[in-house]
Amino acid sequence: MELMQTSIEMQSFTIIESENGFLVSGDFGGNAVEVHRTDTRFQCQCFIAQVSDSECEHVRAVQDYLSLHPPQEERPMLSQADADLYLGKLAKLDTIEGRNLESANSQIDRIKLWLEMETEKITRQKDFYIQALDNFMHMNEYSTKRLVNGTLSIRSQQPEILIKDEDTVLRDDRFVRIIPEKHTVDKAALRKYCTQTGEEIPGTEIILKPHKFSYKLNRGAE
Ligand SMILES: [Zn+2]
Repeated sequence: MELMQTSIEMQSFTIIESENGFLVSGDFGGNAVEVHRTDTRFQCQCFIAQVSDSECEHVRAVQDYLSLHPPQEERPMLSQADADLYLGKLAKLDTIEGRNLESANSQIDRIKLWLEMETEKITRQKDFYIQALDNFMHMNEYSTKRLVNGTLSIRSQQPEILIKDEDTVLRDDRFVRIIPEKHTVDKAALRKYCTQTGEEIPGTEIILKPHKFSYKLNRGAE
């Protein structure tokens, strides 16, 4: 998502604008809140906005911001100090994200272990019944047997042929077939040619990709 370089403080709120809406955060800590922009109105994700129809302080702050900076006019530029502040916010969010992931993973591990143990127990019990029923079918020479609770059936299976030494088998012409030469696209050559010439070869489409933003945090940033 591309952020417009805008940030302004409205009555102790910092507002960041993007294509989809606004991120409104208070000066005195607390979590930032998203305000989405729809065709007709603003939708805030804060608790107040969820439980009542009345406008919350975040939507009011966004409206103040917009009336101060109408869309057709230039938005204020992001200062270097704010850029650094935002990078610090990213660091904080990264930390929280990491902790969430760690916490979820340890829960997932516990759930997996529980499921494994329960499944093992159930599988062992099922095996008793299956073995007994299999014997019942054999003893009576049934191939199919309908019962009140369902139908049992026995089906013979094709043997599996395992090739243990391929070279030995290949010496017997009866079991050798020749696979014709296969033509495939040389993707590396195609990429090199297209990026160098910009030419779109028939049968291809060149999709241009936007630049990629990345950030690296200094140690201790959080
Ligand atoms: Zn709100």
